[in-house]
Amino acid sequence: MAVSNTSCGECSVCCEALTFDIGATRKLSGVMCPHCRPPHGCGVYDTRWQICRSYLCGWRHLGLPEEWRPDKSQILITLREGPSPDGLSNGVEFLLLGSHERITWLPLIKFIAALIETPQPVYLSILGEVGYQAPWVYLNNIPALRDAIISRDLAKTNAALAAALQILRDYPKTKIP
Ligand code: SF4
Ligand code: SF4
Repeated sequence: MAVSNTSCGECSVCCEALTFDIGATRKLSGVMCPHCRPPHGCGVYDTRWQICRSYLCGWRHLGLPEEWRPDKSQILITLREGPSPDGLSNGVEFLLLGSHERITWLPLIKFIAALIETPQPVYLSILGEVGYQAPWVYLNNIPALRDAIISRDLAKTNAALAAALQILRDYPKTKIP
């Protein structure tokens, strides 16, 4: 459920960052939807696809502060309902849209730490090249990160997140079929 006092404003991140498969139509991640008219939003709002009607990013779902709006934070949060690799539910995915240096942003680190302590599943992802899958890593299963968070060691938490990011960078590229 969206928080009532949030609106997308000038953001149109999901119209570019997500892959949509709608029948014979596919819109790849990293390609702006041809219907998007930034900063005014969707040019076919009344007839937009069902997936567009149902998608809301985590910034809106969770009612996070304005600094988290995806076009400002350069982080797209998406809620994942399915079970995590260790059987938890209600996961949160953080997709880094721009510079990978964003992983050092303190609000992001604090949010990730709070979720892992809960525990709630946390996924970190980076954009792949157009036509390739975006790699992701499940952060809860990284012992060095969990230990650093539990011991409130920011330097080790930073280091463990940097290592997770490196896993993503090294991930073999997989073409979207
Ligand atoms: S990413 Fe979120 S705030 Fe931005 S357009 Fe999509 S739903 Fe709206
Ligand atoms: S149809 Fe509209 S809401 Fe859907 S991706 Fe395109 S611009 Fe965005």
